[in-house]
This record gives sequence, structure tokens and C-alpha cells, in this order.
Amino acid sequence: MNRGFQAELERVLLYTAFCVLVGWLNGYLTWTLVIGGAGYMAWTLRQIYRLDIWLRDSDTLDPPDANGIWGDIFDSMLRLQNRQKREKSQLQAVLNRSQETTKALPDGVILLDKKGNIAWFNIAARRLLGLHEDDQDHPLQNYIRHPSFGRYYDSGEYQESIDLPSPHSQDIRLQYQLTAFGRGEKLLVVRDITRIYKLEQMRKDFVANVSHELRTPLTVIRGYLETLAMSPDLPDTMQRAFEQMDHQGKRMTSLINDLIVLSKLETDDDVSADQKIELLPLLNSVVADATALSGNGTLSDDKAHVFELICDEGLKLRGSQKELQSAFSNLVFNAVKYSPVGSAIQIKVSSNENGLNVAVNDEGPGIDPIHIPRLTERFYRVDDSRTSSTGGAGLGLSIVKHILLRHDARLGISSTLGRGSCFNCHFPSERVVR
Ligand code: ADP
Repeated sequence: MNRGFQAELERVLLYTAFCVLVGWLNGYLTWTLVIGGAGYMAWTLRQIYRLDIWLRDSDTLDPPDANGIWGDIFDSMLRLQNRQKREKSQLQAVLNRSQETTKALPDGVILLDKKGNIAWFNIAARRLLGLHEDDQDHPLQNYIRHPSFGRYYDSGEYQESIDLPSPHSQDIRLQYQLTAFGRGEKLLVVRDITRIYKLEQMRKDFVANVSHELRTPLTVIRGYLETLAMSPDLPDTMQRAFEQMDHQGKRMTSLINDLIVLSKLETDDDVSADQKIELLPLLNSVVADATALSGNGTLSDDKAHVFELICDEGLKLRGSQKELQSAFSNLVFNAVKYSPVGSAIQIKVSSNENGLNVAVNDEGPGIDPIHIPRLTERFYRVDDSRTSSTGGAGLGLSIVKHILLRHDARLGISSTLGRGSCFNCHFPSERVVR
């Protein structure tokens, strides 16, 4: 038992004994005990009242003087209060320090409350977005009015950042990264990426210009090669050399064409055209081209691949006819290039409430899982021998990925070594014309 409680117990016992003695002496024992009890209650109430007064203004008032259990209670509360004050000031120091650090960051940091209003921002955010002190408590979207930012904010999917021109100047490029935390609050980090953006732009322009400049001389060289190859008195050895030159010329032309397509897709920021494209005729024409490729290669017609197209009539997608034709052709032509003659290639279109899938299945050699995550990188090839008969440059799937991104779609690749591969294009339901 603690000392305060023991003292209080002794006080109550002594007081009761005193009341009993007085009651016995005056002959009114019950009344004396009742009055004595009431007195003790009044004294206890007074202590509670003093405690209440002190708690209300404990920052300025000293704790009341008391002994016994009440003295213990006041002391414990004082200790608790001092500890709380100490912790509060430590926490405040941490908070101040983290605010100082965030203030000094070169990136803009903006805290948003659950309504999307600005709760706090650092100096860099002020500089990058032109915010002022009195912009606090106003909706962020009043300051960043770009429709893409609105869509990004509303989507709730913040794994990726988005790049947009600054609200003040088209010459400044900003990267926005939202993070949700707490109960619906958000943190926006704004980074100035103008320099990286300009370098990336220069790289794209360089590739686009070089590809264009190479196309004309290559056409001239291939023209002369064709004429020379038809010359009747050409020796056999030269004939083979011309065939090789022609083959390599074709590869270079296809590489340059792919590079031009890719840089067009990269530089054209606009989302793809909003045509309503009927899938059955489009895929029929892709299959017709692939059949020609399959039969016209080194194979004879009777040994060509077996194509199967499963697609309901009337299925339509919103997008660019030219781009989608290019994406599906790339996938079906790859199936022809990489699977053995006589094997089956299936193009299957299925749709449900989540969207629409166009899957190209083949019975080719399959792809080792370690290559799959890198297949859509530019110039990535599983078989590195660029002179092999299938010899593409590794740009096809890169083009497919870009086209699908522009259609809000995803490319899924699954494959089993020795069994075949499946390249699936998933379009969200907003892209499907119902
Ligand atoms: P390429 O021009 O080399 O075909 P792609 O970007 O179209 O370039 O394909 C990249 C690599 O992916 C290819 O080099 C090939 O190794 C592999 N690949 C693509 N499609 C298939 C397929 N259907 N079956 C097996 N491998 C494939």
C-alpha cells in the first residue's frame, strides 16, 4: 500500500474514532457520525474543486498544497504534466527540424488536406508554382489547371508521376508526384525537370533527324543495287554479293522506318486519334499480310503457318486505325518470324465489363522468363545475332508498347519455353465502343 493512501486511511479511522467519541459523550452517536461523514465529504469535494481549478489553468498556477492521498494525486499529476510538456517540446523540435529540412529542399513539397486544399507548402513550391502565403486553404487545382493533372489527381493511382509544363511558363517542365497518406490527405512533390526534358527532346530530335537523313541515300543505293543485280553478265560470286547487299539494305530500311515510327510516337504528345475502329476487318487485313509474309519467306505456300482469327463482328475500339494496325501487325509478324513453319497462330479477341483483350498466341520456341521484363526496351533482342534470318532490330515491341500506352492499354507477355508465347493487349472499357 502506498504511503499517501495509508495516511488517508489513518486519517479516516482517527476522524471516525473522534466522531464516535464525541457522539458517545453527547449521547447523539448516529447524528454525530452523519454530520462527521458530511464534513469529510465536504472536505473531499473541496479537494476536487481545487484540483479542477488547477487543471484548468495549470500552466500559470502552482499545484494546491495537500497531504495524504490528495497530496499524492497532485504530485502525480504534476509529474505527468511535466513529462507531457517535455515530450511536446521534443516533438515540436523534431517537427521544426523536419519543416526546416523540407523548406530547404530544392523540390516543391505541398501538403493537401482531405478536401484537396493546400495545408502547407515549402519555399521551392512557392517558386515553382508561384504560390503565396494566403494561398493556404485554397484548392490546389485552382493553381494547377492542366486537365491531365486533374485526371491524375482524381484517378487515385499515384504509382507513377506525371510531367507537365509549368502553369507559368511553357519553357519550364515540372514533374508531379502525388502520395496519399493519413485519412485522405495527400503530399505533392514538384520537381523541375526542364534540363532532363530538354536533353530527352534533343535525343528524340537527333534520332528522328538522322533516320530521315539516312532514308534518301539508302533508297538511292538500293535502287542502284537492284539495277546492277539485274545485269545479265554478272559473275556468280558478284551475284551472291549483290544479294547480300540487297538483304542488308532491306534490314537497314526497315530499321530506319521503325526508328521514324518510334520517334513520331514519342514526340507526338497528343493522345491517339479518336476514330471508331472495327476490329474484325482490321485483324483480317493483318492476317492477310501475315499469310503473305509466312508464305513468301523461304517457305513454300503449302508449308505456311495456320492462322485462326476469333473475333466477334461489331467489336469496336476508340483510337487510331493506323497505330493499332501497326501494333497488331508487329505482334502477328513476330509470331510468324519466331515460330516454326506449319505451326498454328491464333488471334483471339475477347471482351467483358473490364475491357477488351486482343491476344496473339503462337506455338513457337517460347521466351525465357528472364527476358520478358526487358522485351519492350528499345533494341532488346533475345537472340543477339543481328544477322540471323529473323534479324529484326529489337524495335517492334517497343513500338507496340508506345502505341498501347497512347491507347491507355497494357501489353501482357506470357510464355513457356518450348510451348509458345502469348502477347495480350488489354484495352480498358473506356476505349471500347459499346
Ligand atoms: P525484333 O525486331 O527483333 O523482332 P521485337 O521488339 O519485335 O524485335 O522483339 C524483341 C525480341 O522478342 C525478339 O528479338 C525475339 O527474340 C523476342 N520475341 C518477340 N516475339 C516473339 C515470339 N512470338 N516468340 C518468341 N520470341 C519472340
